Amino acid sequence: HVKLKLESINRTYAQGAGELRILQGADLEILSGEIVALVAPSGAGKSTLLHVSGLLERADSGSVTICDVPTDDLSDRERTLVRRQHVGYIYQFHHLLPEFNATENVMMPQLIAGQADRVAKARGEELLSMMGLKDRGTHRPAQLSGGEQQRVAIARALANSPGLILADEPTGNLDPETSSVVFDLLADSIRNHDAAGLIATHNHDIAKMADRVLTLKDGKLVPFTF
Ligand code: ADP
Ligand code: ADP
Repeated sequence: HVKLKLESINRTYAQGAGELRILQGADLEILSGEIVALVAPSGAGKSTLLHVSGLLERADSGSVTICDVPTDDLSDRERTLVRRQHVGYIYQFHHLLPEFNATENVMMPQLIAGQADRVAKARGEELLSMMGLKDRGTHRPAQLSGGEQQRVAIARALANSPGLILADEPTGNLDPETSSVVFDLLADSIRNHDAAGLIATHNHDIAKMADRVLTLKDGKLVPFTF
């Protein structure tokens, strides 16, 4: 099963009088169970690629298919629904809601999707438990360590069982040891759910734990050699 398919993606930003060509004919196919790392210098276009893949941003041209749903002709509203149903997003800084506890943060995407409170809570607790945070459910983000916050963010990203997980420097804020624990948990959950993952990272040790490692060259995705 193809979870993410990008075909001939172009994305250009206006820069002064000229333009900044970030993606130029980028192609990518990620299958279920597969984890792809994206390694490229700052400013190369990693976030842009993730935004386009997660329907947060539109490409100038090209085609994006997520979990067998062709998205090119969708309205903004329809894109939002596809994103909610099929995509889990993880950021470098967790973006958890500070006034809610860990369980409530994981419940949030489920409640937005129309899930009943009781069901969302049970799933929230199960996911936190899976992330080794069984006894942290009632802690607010500020009461958790950096690694714990990121594990809550992963649990939240998995809450609606998305087919595609997009992660932008998910371990960028963590020490090396915590990074590999967090990556392992993320990778296991992706593989166990037959989902797929696209993970941008600066960290070569983390990238090596992926099934494939790509970089951006002249706006295209090509294999990365360490
Ligand atoms: P990375 O994630 O690899 O650091 P980005 O995708 O964030 O790279 O950015 C790629 C380039 O595009 C950068 O030079 C950035 O300044 C530029 N850029 C990103 N978003 C915009 C935007 N909305 N408008 C103009 N330029 C942008
Ligand atoms: P780390 O050393 O991993 O960065 P911390 O020293 O921040 O972790 O926290 C150690 C443990 O104490 C963590 O498991 C965290 O959940 C808990 N903890 C930290 N701050 C608080 C707090 N204000 N209230 C309750 N528990 C806390």
